[in-house]
Amino acid sequence: MSRAAFIGAESLWAGGHPPGHPLRPERLRDTWEMLHAYDAFATPDTRIVAPRPATEDELATIHSREYIDVVRRLSRGETGLNPGRFSFGPGDNPIFNGMFESEGLKVGAALVGTELLLNDEVEVAFSFAGGLHHAGRNFASGFCVFGDGAIAIHRLLAADWRVAYIDIDAHHGDGVQAAFYDDPRVLTISFHESGHYLFPGTGFTHEIGQGAGRGYSVNVPLFPYTGDDTFIWAFDQIVPPLLERFAPDVVVAQLGVDAHWRDPLTHLALTTYGFETLFQRIHALAPRWLAVGGGGYDRTVVPRAWTLAWGIMSNQRFPNELPAEIASDYDPALLHDELEFELTSEQQQQARQAAEAVVEALGQSLGF
Ligand SMILES: [Zn+2]
Repeated sequence: MSRAAFIGAESLWAGGHPPGHPLRPERLRDTWEMLHAYDAFATPDTRIVAPRPATEDELATIHSREYIDVVRRLSRGETGLNPGRFSFGPGDNPIFNGMFESEGLKVGAALVGTELLLNDEVEVAFSFAGGLHHAGRNFASGFCVFGDGAIAIHRLLAADWRVAYIDIDAHHGDGVQAAFYDDPRVLTISFHESGHYLFPGTGFTHEIGQGAGRGYSVNVPLFPYTGDDTFIWAFDQIVPPLLERFAPDVVVAQLGVDAHWRDPLTHLALTTYGFETLFQRIHALAPRWLAVGGGGYDRTVVPRAWTLAWGIMSNQRFPNELPAEIASDYDPALLHDELEFELTSEQQQQARQAAEAVVEALGQSLGF
């Protein structure tokens, strides 16, 4: 796999969530700057492609017309719309000017990547501004207004492609799961910190789909302090056999990096080395690959992890020392973590035992 498109333009972070919100637009800008400092788009098989806005019909493949209309009107500053009914308000899902445009552009970015794959112009497309996996049909949730991943999957289904969705964000990919819960054409696999400890409080092993979709939703809830070894072990137990059986035409992967040990919102303990291994695994398993971004709330982690992801997608190895022009923004000025997070042996044991129980339960219910 070598032909790779990065879906990006400054318009993706010109607007966005207001200052103080965890989903800061600067996450995207800093990633973009790091990739450019590494001259990461210079090889002939890589290219940058600009996003476009999603159309209302595209948004409506997943969201209700009523919700789309309310988002547009809230975005313009209209009042008297009872935004709480759609889960907007102070906190996770604030109303902000230009919300319809900025969040709709993130959906369009994923669709641009999707179309490049459908037209066989690339083998991998990375829409790093997306991965908004909590958005509901009729409500915002967990920083997510529109579900770019689910809408992209809908577009792939319309072309009769079988889709495997792999979500390594620290939070359960509940919005994507819900959108295809009864659909056997989409296999969703979400790895996340257990809902006993983290938003959104779902994603347990018994959630395996319903109706014709029974057996096509897979959840891997992990114990706090799960580190690289156990996460990768669980991934290797579950994903290769399920993908071999399902035989997808494309993998859509949500690459949230909030499972990192530095992340302020979660309690998992991955490092950049763990992420790199997971990106390599997905790369090896995916016949074609639509990657979307996702969470990640430590400002030093997100650019480094997604730069590593782009390196794997485009077969480039970037020097570990950060380029001089951005080095002063990072301490230490290295692409990889300098130190591994030190887990106690009790933490490691607890996390491993919990993961073994999950793998065993899934093996029984899904037959692998
Ligand atoms: Zn997350």
